[in-house]
Amino acid sequence: MAGAHVIGADELRDRLAALAPIGLGDDGTTRLAWTPELAAAEAWFGDQASAAGLRVERDPAGSLWAVPDAPGPWWATGSHLDSVRSGGRFDGALGVAAGFAAAERLGGVAVLAFADEEGARFNTPTFGSRALAGTLDVADVLARRDDAGVALADAMAEAGADPAGLGGAPSWLPRLRGFVELHIDQTRDLERLGAPAGAVRALASRTRLAITLAGRADHAGTTRRDERSDALAAAARLIVAADELAGGDRDFLVTATRLLVEPNAFTTVPSAVRLWVDGRTPDAGRLDAWRAALAARADELAAATGVRIEVAVASRSAGVAFDRGVVAALGDLPELVCFAGHDAGVLAQRMPAGMVFVRNPTGISHAPEEEVDMEDAAVAANALLGTLERLA
Ligand SMILES: [Zn+2]
Repeated sequence: MAGAHVIGADELRDRLAALAPIGLGDDGTTRLAWTPELAAAEAWFGDQASAAGLRVERDPAGSLWAVPDAPGPWWATGSHLDSVRSGGRFDGALGVAAGFAAAERLGGVAVLAFADEEGARFNTPTFGSRALAGTLDVADVLARRDDAGVALADAMAEAGADPAGLGGAPSWLPRLRGFVELHIDQTRDLERLGAPAGAVRALASRTRLAITLAGRADHAGTTRRDERSDALAAAARLIVAADELAGGDRDFLVTATRLLVEPNAFTTVPSAVRLWVDGRTPDAGRLDAWRAALAARADELAAATGVRIEVAVASRSAGVAFDRGVVAALGDLPELVCFAGHDAGVLAQRMPAGMVFVRNPTGISHAPEEEVDMEDAAVAANALLGTLERLA
Protein backbone atom coordinates (compact mmCIF):
# COMPACT_ATOMS: atom_id res chain seq x y z
CA MET A 1 0.00 0.00 0.00
CA ALA A 2 1.28 3.43 -0.83
CA GLY A 3 0.20 7.00 -1.57
CA ALA A 4 -3.52 7.62 -1.98
CA HIS A 5 -4.20 3.99 -1.16
CA VAL A 6 -3.18 4.55 2.47
CA ILE A 7 -5.86 5.89 4.82
CA GLY A 8 -4.58 8.87 6.80
CA ALA A 9 -5.61 10.26 10.19
CA ASP A 10 -6.84 13.50 8.61
CA GLU A 11 -9.20 11.67 6.32
CA LEU A 12 -10.83 9.83 9.24
CA ARG A 13 -11.06 13.08 11.19
CA ASP A 14 -12.73 14.76 8.20
CA ARG A 15 -15.21 11.93 7.73
CA LEU A 16 -16.22 12.09 11.40
CA ALA A 17 -16.39 15.90 11.52
CA ALA A 18 -19.91 16.08 10.07
CA LEU A 19 -21.19 13.16 12.16
CA ALA A 20 -19.83 14.14 15.58
CA PRO A 21 -22.18 17.13 16.22
CA ILE A 22 -25.30 14.99 15.65
CA GLY A 23 -26.89 14.22 19.01
CA LEU A 24 -24.03 15.93 20.85
CA GLY A 25 -25.05 17.69 24.08
CA ASP A 26 -23.38 18.87 27.29
CA ASP A 27 -23.47 15.31 28.61
CA GLY A 28 -22.09 13.55 25.53
CA THR A 29 -23.54 11.93 22.41
CA THR A 30 -27.09 10.55 22.43
CA ARG A 31 -28.32 8.94 19.23
CA LEU A 32 -30.93 6.38 20.21
CA ALA A 33 -32.55 4.01 17.73
CA TRP A 34 -35.48 5.26 15.65
CA THR A 35 -35.06 8.94 16.64
CA PRO A 36 -34.56 12.15 14.62
CA GLU A 37 -30.91 12.18 15.80
CA LEU A 38 -30.37 8.77 14.26
CA ALA A 39 -32.11 9.88 11.06
CA ALA A 40 -29.65 12.79 10.86
CA ALA A 41 -26.73 10.36 11.27
CA GLU A 42 -28.26 8.22 8.51
CA ALA A 43 -28.26 11.24 6.21
CA TRP A 44 -24.49 11.50 6.89
CA PHE A 45 -24.27 7.80 5.90
CA GLY A 46 -26.03 8.64 2.61
CA ASP A 47 -23.51 11.41 1.88
CA GLN A 48 -20.56 9.11 2.63
CA ALA A 49 -22.05 6.41 0.40
CA SER A 50 -22.59 8.64 -2.61
CA ALA A 51 -19.08 10.06 -2.29
CA ALA A 52 -17.79 6.46 -2.34
CA GLY A 53 -19.95 5.54 -5.33
CA LEU A 54 -22.20 3.20 -3.31
CA ARG A 55 -26.00 2.86 -3.37
CA VAL A 56 -27.92 3.00 -0.05
CA GLU A 57 -30.58 0.43 0.78
CA ARG A 58 -32.45 -0.22 4.03
CA ASP A 59 -33.01 -3.84 5.08
CA PRO A 60 -36.19 -5.03 6.85
CA ALA A 61 -34.55 -4.46 10.28
CA GLY A 62 -33.79 -0.82 9.40
CA SER A 63 -30.04 -1.37 9.01
CA LEU A 64 -28.44 0.70 6.26
CA TRP A 65 -26.45 -0.96 3.48
CA ALA A 66 -24.17 1.00 1.12
CA VAL A 67 -23.69 -1.48 -1.70
CA PRO A 68 -21.52 -1.51 -4.82
CA ASP A 69 -22.77 -2.01 -8.39
CA ALA A 70 -20.88 -5.30 -8.61
CA PRO A 71 -23.25 -8.21 -7.99
CA GLY A 72 -23.12 -9.77 -4.50
CA PRO A 73 -22.48 -11.53 -2.31
CA TRP A 74 -19.97 -9.02 -0.99
CA TRP A 75 -17.51 -8.75 1.84
CA ALA A 76 -18.76 -5.97 4.08
CA THR A 77 -17.51 -3.68 6.79
CA GLY A 78 -19.07 -0.98 8.98
CA SER A 79 -20.52 -0.86 12.49
CA HIS A 80 -23.38 1.17 14.00
CA LEU A 81 -24.48 4.83 14.22
CA ASP A 82 -26.65 4.62 17.33
CA SER A 83 -25.21 5.34 20.78
CA VAL A 84 -26.08 4.80 24.41
CA ARG A 85 -27.48 7.75 26.38
CA SER A 86 -24.65 10.26 27.00
CA GLY A 87 -22.17 8.14 25.07
CA GLY A 88 -18.93 8.87 23.26
CA ARG A 89 -18.09 10.00 19.74
CA PHE A 90 -16.31 6.91 18.45
CA ASP A 91 -18.19 3.77 19.54
CA GLY A 92 -19.72 2.56 16.28
CA ALA A 93 -19.19 5.82 14.37
CA LEU A 94 -15.48 5.24 13.87
CA GLY A 95 -16.13 1.80 12.36
CA VAL A 96 -18.59 3.22 9.83
CA ALA A 97 -16.26 6.10 8.87
CA ALA A 98 -13.27 3.77 8.48
CA GLY A 99 -15.49 1.38 6.54
CA PHE A 100 -16.24 4.04 3.94
CA ALA A 101 -12.53 4.94 3.73
CA ALA A 102 -11.73 1.29 2.95
CA ALA A 103 -14.69 0.62 0.63
CA GLU A 104 -13.99 3.74 -1.44
CA ARG A 105 -10.49 2.44 -2.19
CA LEU A 106 -11.44 -1.14 -2.94
CA GLY A 107 -14.71 -1.26 -4.88
CA GLY A 108 -16.87 -4.35 -4.54
CA VAL A 109 -17.15 -4.00 -0.75
CA ALA A 110 -20.36 -3.01 1.09
CA VAL A 111 -20.60 -0.76 4.17
CA LEU A 112 -23.25 -1.48 6.80
CA ALA A 113 -24.66 0.54 9.70
CA PHE A 114 -26.59 -1.90 11.86
CA ALA A 115 -29.83 -0.72 13.46
CA ASP A 116 -29.94 -0.33 17.25
CA GLU A 117 -26.66 -2.04 18.15
CA GLU A 118 -26.62 -0.58 21.65
CA GLY A 119 -30.23 -1.46 22.43
CA ALA A 120 -30.22 1.50 24.81
CA ARG A 121 -33.85 2.46 24.20
CA PHE A 122 -35.65 -0.91 24.19
CA ASN A 123 -33.04 -3.22 25.76
CA THR A 124 -32.56 -4.82 22.34
CA PRO A 125 -28.78 -4.92 21.79
CA THR A 126 -27.44 -6.01 18.37
CA PHE A 127 -31.00 -5.67 17.03
CA GLY A 128 -30.09 -5.26 13.35
CA SER A 129 -27.51 -8.03 13.18
CA ARG A 130 -29.65 -10.50 15.13
CA ALA A 131 -32.60 -9.76 12.84
CA LEU A 132 -30.33 -10.40 9.84
CA ALA A 133 -28.90 -13.59 11.32
CA GLY A 134 -32.41 -14.81 12.20
CA THR A 135 -31.67 -15.03 15.93
CA LEU A 136 -34.00 -12.21 17.05
CA ASP A 137 -37.31 -13.05 18.77
CA VAL A 138 -39.33 -10.74 16.52
CA ALA A 139 -42.68 -10.84 18.38
CA ASP A 140 -40.96 -10.25 21.72
CA VAL A 141 -38.96 -7.20 20.63
CA LEU A 142 -41.76 -5.51 18.69
CA ALA A 143 -43.88 -5.42 21.84
CA ARG A 144 -41.17 -3.84 24.01
CA ARG A 145 -41.70 -0.28 25.20
CA ASP A 146 -39.22 2.50 25.93
CA ASP A 147 -39.24 4.63 29.11
CA ALA A 148 -41.87 6.91 27.55
CA GLY A 149 -44.18 3.94 26.86
CA VAL A 150 -43.62 3.92 23.08
CA ALA A 151 -43.68 0.40 21.58
CA LEU A 152 -40.72 -0.58 19.43
CA ALA A 153 -43.10 -1.40 16.54
CA ASP A 154 -44.48 2.16 16.66
CA ALA A 155 -41.00 3.70 16.94
CA MET A 156 -39.91 1.73 13.86
CA ALA A 157 -42.96 2.85 11.88
CA GLU A 158 -42.42 6.45 12.99
CA ALA A 159 -38.84 6.23 11.63
CA GLY A 160 -40.14 4.97 8.27
CA ALA A 161 -39.36 1.25 8.73
CA ASP A 162 -42.07 -1.42 8.44
CA PRO A 163 -42.31 -3.50 11.65
CA ALA A 164 -44.43 -6.12 9.83
CA GLY A 165 -41.46 -6.86 7.58
CA LEU A 166 -38.92 -7.41 10.38
CA GLY A 167 -39.17 -11.20 10.18
CA GLY A 168 -38.02 -11.04 6.55
CA ALA A 169 -34.56 -9.67 7.41
CA PRO A 170 -32.75 -13.05 7.10
CA SER A 171 -33.56 -13.07 3.37
CA TRP A 172 -30.84 -10.39 3.05
CA LEU A 173 -28.17 -12.53 4.70
CA PRO A 174 -27.04 -14.36 1.51
CA ARG A 175 -25.96 -10.97 0.10
CA LEU A 176 -22.94 -11.10 2.43
CA ARG A 177 -19.81 -13.24 2.10
CA GLY A 178 -18.24 -12.03 5.31
CA PHE A 179 -17.98 -9.06 7.66
CA VAL A 180 -15.06 -7.23 9.28
CA GLU A 181 -15.78 -4.52 11.86
CA LEU A 182 -13.44 -1.82 13.17
CA HIS A 183 -14.28 -0.67 16.71
CA ILE A 184 -12.71 1.16 19.64
CA ASP A 185 -11.24 -1.00 22.38
CA GLN A 186 -13.55 -0.83 25.40
CA THR A 187 -10.76 -1.85 27.75
CA ARG A 188 -7.19 -0.62 28.34
CA ASP A 189 -5.78 -3.84 26.85
CA LEU A 190 -4.18 -2.20 23.79
CA GLU A 191 -2.91 0.71 25.89
CA ARG A 192 -1.24 -1.83 28.20
CA LEU A 193 0.31 -3.60 25.21
CA GLY A 194 1.50 -0.30 23.74
CA ALA A 195 -0.19 -1.20 20.45
CA PRO A 196 -2.29 1.14 18.28
CA ALA A 197 -4.54 -1.68 17.03
CA GLY A 198 -5.40 -5.31 17.73
CA ALA A 199 -7.13 -8.29 16.12
CA VAL A 200 -10.02 -9.73 18.13
CA ARG A 201 -9.79 -13.51 18.13
CA ALA A 202 -12.90 -14.25 20.23
CA LEU A 203 -15.85 -12.85 22.07
CA ALA A 204 -16.21 -14.28 25.56
CA SER A 205 -18.93 -16.74 26.59
CA ARG A 206 -21.17 -15.45 29.37
CA THR A 207 -23.21 -17.14 32.07
CA ARG A 208 -25.44 -15.30 34.52
CA LEU A 209 -26.18 -17.31 37.66
CA ALA A 210 -29.18 -16.61 39.91
CA ILE A 211 -28.44 -17.87 43.42
CA THR A 212 -31.16 -18.20 46.05
CA LEU A 213 -30.21 -18.56 49.71
CA ALA A 214 -32.86 -19.39 52.32
CA GLY A 215 -31.76 -19.12 55.96
CA ARG A 216 -33.69 -18.20 59.11
CA ALA A 217 -34.49 -14.78 60.58
CA ASP A 218 -33.41 -14.40 64.17
CA HIS A 219 -32.28 -11.79 66.73
CA ALA A 220 -29.11 -10.11 65.40
CA GLY A 221 -27.75 -9.67 68.91
CA THR A 222 -28.62 -12.74 70.89
CA THR A 223 -28.39 -15.64 68.46
CA ARG A 224 -25.20 -17.63 69.02
CA ARG A 225 -22.93 -18.39 66.09
CA ASP A 226 -23.75 -22.12 65.94
CA GLU A 227 -27.49 -21.42 66.10
CA ARG A 228 -27.65 -19.10 63.07
CA SER A 229 -28.62 -19.75 59.48
CA ASP A 230 -27.42 -16.42 58.10
CA ALA A 231 -28.25 -16.18 54.39
CA LEU A 232 -26.20 -13.02 53.80
CA ALA A 233 -23.04 -14.38 55.47
CA ALA A 234 -23.34 -17.46 53.22
CA ALA A 235 -23.88 -15.23 50.17
CA ALA A 236 -20.73 -13.27 51.05
CA ARG A 237 -18.70 -16.50 51.15
CA LEU A 238 -20.13 -17.51 47.77
CA ILE A 239 -19.24 -14.15 46.21
CA VAL A 240 -15.64 -14.58 47.30
CA ALA A 241 -15.62 -18.22 46.17
CA ALA A 242 -17.01 -17.30 42.73
CA ASP A 243 -14.09 -14.98 42.15
CA GLU A 244 -11.45 -17.34 43.60
CA LEU A 245 -12.70 -20.22 41.44
CA ALA A 246 -11.83 -18.14 38.36
CA GLY A 247 -8.21 -18.68 39.41
CA GLY A 248 -7.00 -15.09 39.05
CA ASP A 249 -7.06 -15.37 35.24
CA ARG A 250 -7.20 -11.91 33.56
CA ASP A 251 -9.41 -13.38 30.84
CA PHE A 252 -11.95 -14.85 33.29
CA LEU A 253 -14.10 -12.05 34.69
CA VAL A 254 -16.49 -12.68 37.57
CA THR A 255 -18.84 -10.04 38.97
CA ALA A 256 -21.47 -10.27 41.69
CA THR A 257 -23.85 -7.75 40.16
CA ARG A 258 -26.99 -7.74 42.27
CA LEU A 259 -28.01 -8.61 45.83
CA LEU A 260 -31.50 -8.57 47.41
CA VAL A 261 -31.58 -9.11 51.17
CA GLU A 262 -34.55 -9.93 53.42
CA PRO A 263 -35.66 -8.60 55.77
CA ASN A 264 -32.81 -6.07 55.31
CA ALA A 265 -33.29 -4.78 58.85
CA PHE A 266 -30.75 -3.52 61.46
CA THR A 267 -32.04 -5.93 64.08
CA THR A 268 -32.31 -9.23 62.29
CA VAL A 269 -30.13 -12.05 60.98
CA PRO A 270 -30.79 -12.05 57.20
CA SER A 271 -33.26 -14.81 56.33
CA ALA A 272 -33.21 -14.75 52.52
CA VAL A 273 -30.90 -13.50 49.80
CA ARG A 274 -31.08 -13.45 46.04
CA LEU A 275 -27.72 -12.97 44.37
CA TRP A 276 -26.74 -12.71 40.70
CA VAL A 277 -23.24 -13.54 39.52
CA ASP A 278 -21.95 -12.93 36.01
CA GLY A 279 -19.03 -14.97 34.63
CA ARG A 280 -17.28 -14.33 31.29
CA THR A 281 -14.41 -16.10 29.59
CA PRO A 282 -13.57 -17.11 26.03
CA ASP A 283 -13.38 -20.77 27.14
CA ALA A 284 -16.97 -22.09 27.38
CA GLY A 285 -15.78 -25.36 28.93
CA ARG A 286 -14.09 -23.51 31.78
CA LEU A 287 -17.25 -21.50 32.32
CA ASP A 288 -19.23 -24.73 32.79
CA ALA A 289 -16.57 -26.13 35.14
CA TRP A 290 -16.65 -22.88 37.15
CA ARG A 291 -20.44 -23.07 37.53
CA ALA A 292 -20.21 -26.72 38.65
CA ALA A 293 -17.45 -25.91 41.16
CA LEU A 294 -19.46 -23.01 42.56
CA ALA A 295 -22.54 -25.26 42.92
CA ALA A 296 -20.39 -27.81 44.82
CA ARG A 297 -19.09 -25.04 47.09
CA ALA A 298 -22.71 -23.96 47.70
CA ASP A 299 -23.61 -27.54 48.76
CA GLU A 300 -20.71 -27.60 51.27
CA LEU A 301 -21.72 -24.22 52.62
CA ALA A 302 -25.35 -25.33 52.94
CA ALA A 303 -24.32 -28.43 54.89
CA ALA A 304 -22.19 -26.32 57.23
CA THR A 305 -24.67 -23.46 57.84
CA GLY A 306 -28.17 -24.86 57.40
CA VAL A 307 -28.82 -22.24 54.70
CA ARG A 308 -30.60 -23.80 51.70
CA ILE A 309 -28.80 -22.70 48.52
CA GLU A 310 -29.86 -23.09 44.90
CA VAL A 311 -27.59 -22.13 42.00
CA ALA A 312 -29.51 -21.68 38.72
CA VAL A 313 -28.44 -20.47 35.29
CA ALA A 314 -30.47 -17.28 34.60
CA SER A 315 -29.10 -16.74 31.12
CA ARG A 316 -26.15 -17.69 29.02
CA SER A 317 -24.70 -16.71 25.69
CA ALA A 318 -22.24 -18.75 23.75
CA GLY A 319 -18.96 -17.10 22.93
CA VAL A 320 -17.67 -16.61 19.42
CA ALA A 321 -14.35 -17.60 17.93
CA PHE A 322 -13.74 -15.31 14.99
CA ASP A 323 -12.74 -16.79 11.65
CA ARG A 324 -9.01 -17.67 11.69
CA GLY A 325 -8.69 -16.56 8.06
CA VAL A 326 -9.93 -13.09 8.97
CA VAL A 327 -7.74 -12.88 12.09
CA ALA A 328 -4.70 -13.93 10.04
CA ALA A 329 -5.54 -11.48 7.25
CA LEU A 330 -5.46 -8.63 9.80
CA GLY A 331 -1.72 -9.19 9.82
CA ASP A 332 0.79 -8.65 12.56
CA LEU A 333 -1.49 -7.25 15.27
CA PRO A 334 -1.73 -8.46 18.88
CA GLU A 335 -4.70 -10.78 19.40
CA LEU A 336 -7.39 -9.82 21.91
CA VAL A 337 -10.43 -11.31 23.59
CA CYS A 338 -13.48 -9.07 23.79
CA PHE A 339 -15.97 -9.30 26.67
CA ALA A 340 -18.78 -7.21 25.14
CA GLY A 341 -21.29 -8.08 22.42
CA HIS A 342 -20.89 -6.80 18.85
CA ASP A 343 -22.67 -7.11 15.49
CA ALA A 344 -19.62 -8.92 14.08
CA GLY A 345 -20.01 -11.53 16.82
CA VAL A 346 -23.63 -12.12 15.84
CA LEU A 347 -22.74 -12.47 12.15
CA ALA A 348 -19.84 -14.81 13.01
CA GLN A 349 -22.47 -17.49 13.69
CA ARG A 350 -23.44 -17.32 10.00
CA MET A 351 -20.33 -16.32 8.01
CA PRO A 352 -16.60 -15.58 8.27
CA ALA A 353 -16.27 -12.50 10.43
CA GLY A 354 -13.72 -10.61 12.48
CA MET A 355 -12.95 -7.37 14.28
CA VAL A 356 -10.05 -4.94 14.50
CA PHE A 357 -9.84 -2.78 17.65
CA VAL A 358 -8.33 0.70 18.02
CA ARG A 359 -6.42 1.65 21.17
CA ASN A 360 -8.49 3.60 23.70
CA PRO A 361 -6.03 5.37 26.06
CA THR A 362 -8.45 5.57 29.00
CA GLY A 363 -10.36 2.36 28.31
CA ILE A 364 -13.54 4.39 28.91
CA SER A 365 -16.48 3.90 26.55
CA HIS A 366 -20.23 4.55 26.69
CA ALA A 367 -19.28 7.93 28.15
CA PRO A 368 -18.18 11.28 26.68
CA GLU A 369 -14.62 10.68 27.97
CA GLU A 370 -14.22 8.00 25.27
CA GLU A 371 -11.03 8.92 23.36
CA VAL A 372 -9.15 7.77 20.28
CA ASP A 373 -5.97 9.10 18.67
CA MET A 374 -6.70 9.39 14.94
CA GLU A 375 -3.18 8.13 14.15
CA ASP A 376 -4.11 4.88 15.93
CA ALA A 377 -7.43 4.80 14.10
CA ALA A 378 -5.57 5.11 10.81
CA VAL A 379 -3.37 2.09 11.68
CA ALA A 380 -6.51 0.04 12.33
CA ALA A 381 -8.26 1.39 9.22
CA ASN A 382 -5.30 0.36 7.03
CA ALA A 383 -5.36 -3.10 8.62
CA LEU A 384 -9.07 -3.25 7.74
CA LEU A 385 -8.31 -2.10 4.20
CA GLY A 386 -5.56 -4.68 3.75
CA THR A 387 -7.76 -7.44 5.15
CA LEU A 388 -10.68 -6.70 2.85
CA GLU A 389 -8.26 -6.44 -0.06
CA ARG A 390 -6.92 -9.94 0.73
CA LEU A 391 -10.32 -11.50 1.35
CA ALA A 392 -12.60 -9.78 -1.18
ZN1 LIG B 1 -20.20 -0.27 19.57
